[in-house]
Amino acid sequence: MESTDAKELNDKKTVAYIASSELVKVSSLLPSNKKRSMIVHSLISSLGLMKPDFSTTSRLQVINPRRATYKELAVYHSRDYLDFVLEARHIDSSPASLCTGTNTEFGLEDDCPPFSGLPDYVRLVAGATLTAADALRQETADVAICWDGGRHHAQKSHASGFCYIADCILAIMSLKRPYPAFSAISPHSRRPRIMYLDLDLHFSDAVSEAFSSRAFGAPQILTLSVHHAAPGFFPASPRAQLTSVADQNFDPFSLSIPLLQGASNNTYARIWPIIEKIKDSFDPDFVVVQCGTDGLAGDPCATFNWSLGDDAGSLGWCIQRVLKGWSKRTLLLGGGGYNSPNAARAWAYLTSIALERPIDLETEIPDHVGFPLYGPSFTMDVSPGNMHNHNSDEYLGSIENKFEDIIVELQKRLENSTNVTTG
Ligand SMILES: [Zn+2]
Repeated sequence: MESTDAKELNDKKTVAYIASSELVKVSSLLPSNKKRSMIVHSLISSLGLMKPDFSTTSRLQVINPRRATYKELAVYHSRDYLDFVLEARHIDSSPASLCTGTNTEFGLEDDCPPFSGLPDYVRLVAGATLTAADALRQETADVAICWDGGRHHAQKSHASGFCYIADCILAIMSLKRPYPAFSAISPHSRRPRIMYLDLDLHFSDAVSEAFSSRAFGAPQILTLSVHHAAPGFFPASPRAQLTSVADQNFDPFSLSIPLLQGASNNTYARIWPIIEKIKDSFDPDFVVVQCGTDGLAGDPCATFNWSLGDDAGSLGWCIQRVLKGWSKRTLLLGGGGYNSPNAARAWAYLTSIALERPIDLETEIPDHVGFPLYGPSFTMDVSPGNMHNHNSDEYLGSIENKFEDIIVELQKRLENSTNVTTG
């Protein structure tokens, strides 16, 4: 007879958590975020989140990532780029190699220098996010987490903005493929729809461009990026701006909510109903959330004043809304975040939300290898600072007005596409 404990374990929801010592080792080499991966995973482990009895309703299943195959990487990346970044002998960070024309051609310069371990990094980070997507497609998990993924600036043929591999795009390409089991989870006789929500401080340029309806055709994928946009702020793109249905290149499947400096919990709470209306209209089967933490207070980017806590509009509150309120199969990815202990606090907290037992943010950081990094508070919270919020009532009102029309247009396009498909 099955023991009670085993039965309880089987009844629990599964949160797939992608990690391995090899993934942590290569991710910790990323020049823009040295050691961050190690700091993140060791905090999550020291908080006990991986223990089977952490939550009474959910359990974390650690899954080792597979290495992405060349064929899988080539679903998006160009063969020239892959041949270059996967060939270890090119990846020499000596000053001489930094000056070669080929490095420049593939963007391996400035903020994306070549580094030893890059070929392994590319295969493992892409493989990790694809492993997470597999768990959702194969229905072995309702939520899948890959904090080493979320590289939303990497382009088809060049590295950009600290990103060498377009794992978000590869995961979306994988999720959109019909899967035999999918018919059982989808109430519709249609191809799976994927909503990509990007909460990083920076615009998700590569992902938004890859899936714009002009580039992609059928409305199977909708991207929505909430970010800071200002002249000279990376990445420069017309798509990062607030658009209107009257714009010549308007695309209701490639949406942006640009925020001004000092965005706070109140700012996100105010715009959240727009995000929910877009989700309701699009009715996705899968949700992919890029949870970059560079908008949190205390990040060296020093642009937003967002906090982690459970107040309305905080990062934790947003993810709680997605996971509890939307109840879709959800992939949570990492992204930017240059205050490593704060990124670790945030992703540990979001992991506990996924496990349906949010950690109290007054909790003291456990004694573990990264402990000295968490001063002076040595608690889990990331509180807001004193930055002035430039997102005035008037500015946020103008976003709301524009999105009223955008959502009507989105619904119209979806209706038309359904008529075309079924007619
Ligand atoms: Zn960023």
